[in-house]
Amino acid sequence: APRVEVGNTVSFFAPGLDAAAQERRRITQALHRAIERGEFALHYQPVIDLAARRMTGAEALVRWHSAELGPLSPATFIPIAEETGLIVPLGRWVLEEGCRQAVRWQAQGRAGLRIAVNVSAKQLYQPDFLDEVNAILDASGVSGEPSLLAIEVTESALMEDIETSIAVLQRLKGRGLSVYVDDFGTGYSSLAYLKRLPADKLKIDISFVRGMLSDRSDYTIVATIIAMARSLGLKTLAEGVEEAAQVEALSALGCDEVQGYYFGRPEPPDAFARKWLAGNAS
Ligand code: C2E
Ligand code: MG
Ligand code: MG
Ligand code: MG
Repeated sequence: APRVEVGNTVSFFAPGLDAAAQERRRITQALHRAIERGEFALHYQPVIDLAARRMTGAEALVRWHSAELGPLSPATFIPIAEETGLIVPLGRWVLEEGCRQAVRWQAQGRAGLRIAVNVSAKQLYQPDFLDEVNAILDASGVSGEPSLLAIEVTESALMEDIETSIAVLQRLKGRGLSVYVDDFGTGYSSLAYLKRLPADKLKIDISFVRGMLSDRSDYTIVATIIAMARSLGLKTLAEGVEEAAQVEALSALGCDEVQGYYFGRPEPPDAFARKWLAGNAS
């Protein structure tokens, strides 16, 4: 293929494709191979219970270091994986690996550490998603202790097909798993649907938490979500907490849990275990 210079970067150009389409194509091709080559890893970010001031679980976040393209952010490759359907095999691997890790930590004596795994709309709406989850729970040993696993689905993914979402979440909960609504506040769900949604926890989107101490309306949104969740019997978790002042404000508002760089960044499992599971695992 002919080479073209674009700014400082040199790329191989397929005639008829613009730069963005070209980039998507390269990522798609690399994604296909990445699954076979085992280029993915999960990193774990601690979840802190505010009342107990104690780590109670972790969110599993996928990381990809491509042999050809180097490290890529989930914000770049997850949307492409969703568009191309590759999120289905990738998401299956994420679920398998998250379950295996939950069982490993359980076996190492950290009882009840709950791992939350992100599931995209494409996966959730696959007709065989529940069969796949059941098979993974059985193969990993999580079936014996389903409270070790939580499934996170974004509010906007749930709203794509609310009736199917309700049915699938109901089955997941029936299996003993926890269900969290991710990026809450950005997905336009109505209160009527929220009332019917079989979820355990709302994860307040990072954008509101980031602004809550400087922007009155962000503060009001956070306070309102927490109050509404409580009256609906849902727990709340604030994402993206970076400062002590946010922790105190969220505590005062009655938020149940927090996650963010203030407590810990997502890290590989061994680093996570050294920091969070050694000695201080009370
Ligand atoms: P998310 O599920 O809402 O995950 C939270 C994101 O916020 C993560 O970004 C995390 O690293 C970042 N974060 C956590 N604490 C802080 C903080 O204090 N400050 C800031 N600025 N950021 C913080 P990450 O890992 O880049 O993931 C981005 C998104 O990609 C995730 O948002 C999720 O939607 C998606 N994603 C990641 N892993 C998976 C996966 O395995 N499957 C699916 N379907 N999506 C995934
Ligand atoms: Mg998440
Ligand atoms: Mg989120
Ligand atoms: Mg997000």
